[in-house]
Amino acid sequence: MSVFTQTAFANHQQVVFCHDAASGLKAIIAIHDRTLGPACGGCRMWTYASEDDAIADALRLSRGMTYKNALAGNPLGGGKAVIIGHPAVDKNSALLRAFGKAVHRLGGRYITAEDVGMRVQDMEIIRSQTPYVIGLNSSDAASGNPAPWTARGVAVGIRAALLYRFGNPSPRGRTIAIQGLGQVGAALANDMHLQGARLIVADLDPRRVFDAVERYGAEADDPTTIHQARADVFAPCALGGVISSERLPVLGAPIIAGSANNQLADEHVGDLLAKHGILYAPDYVINAGGVINAAGEALGAYDSSVVMERVDKIGTTLEAIFRRAVREKRSTDAIAEAMAEDILARARLENAA
Ligand code: NAD
Repeated sequence: MSVFTQTAFANHQQVVFCHDAASGLKAIIAIHDRTLGPACGGCRMWTYASEDDAIADALRLSRGMTYKNALAGNPLGGGKAVIIGHPAVDKNSALLRAFGKAVHRLGGRYITAEDVGMRVQDMEIIRSQTPYVIGLNSSDAASGNPAPWTARGVAVGIRAALLYRFGNPSPRGRTIAIQGLGQVGAALANDMHLQGARLIVADLDPRRVFDAVERYGAEADDPTTIHQARADVFAPCALGGVISSERLPVLGAPIIAGSANNQLADEHVGDLLAKHGILYAPDYVINAGGVINAAGEALGAYDSSVVMERVDKIGTTLEAIFRRAVREKRSTDAIAEAMAEDILARARLENAA
């Protein structure tokens, strides 16, 4: 198992392995960069195939958070935590309290929140051990569940991509293929339906698919092949690694715009997408709605009208990325990374002055 030498390590400032024998907690907290503020990013609970997979996931996700916070204009750095285990089987109060203690030991260098496998109620239990947690329902500045805000940002991003590709931002009459009907995917499906889109949907949970078919007249697809569906937009809203070089020739939509983190299987896929003329909305830009919402809470002041205004700016940021990518003949993810690195470089200079 390697940490320092793997590509995803990418100059992380701190990686903490947490274990609590009594509760069974096995967690990794990755702090990528604190130039802009305390490292902030969700905690994911997942049944990883190996510890190596869990480490790689924590590292990739936490670096993504640095860029996400930078481009969203949040005064926060990038970090992420993963807990190894099945949320429905291994999660219990003792484990969440042990995780809260581990977060607290970092003294505020890392602020945690929900991600896949975690819920607002879990954050309340973690809060009993540390103030360094956001996405709560019950503090003065509580920002609540981030997922509806993430879905709003993705919807705004889809409109920006449609405008750029087709000259019209409206989803009316467009076909949107959504992979994953969880907290974000379900809210996005509802929004796109209300805006007049036709939906193709897939989820590992057949009840969620059934629900979308009933409510929206969505067409049900297979979770393993929905990326091939003939659509105007493919919205990955499940897990990462969906867009790989092997899948590129069979992708069914000219736009990829969804909430999942780490959608590109490796760093070369972005260039290949650009070469194939597929417009990719970089994941950490389009899915920043949740962390924009949570930032108010992290800073001790929450105002939903300010959040809405800032989430809606995701569209403007994406338009700038799309235009610059064409101008510089580079991929959209390379441009997003360059823009985030510029913000960080300027902040490092200011911090040093
Ligand atoms: P969730 O756990 O509520 O939902 C995920 C859904 O995806 C579940 O319904 C699950 O059954 C389904 N799924 C898993 N694998 C699948 C597959 N191969 N094919 C089809 N469906 C599959 O998670 P969420 O909060 O909706 O988040 C979805 C994605 O968006 C994740 O990648 C997450 O990291 C990312 N994201 C979420 C937020 C947020 O605010 N919740 C913010 C930023 C990014």
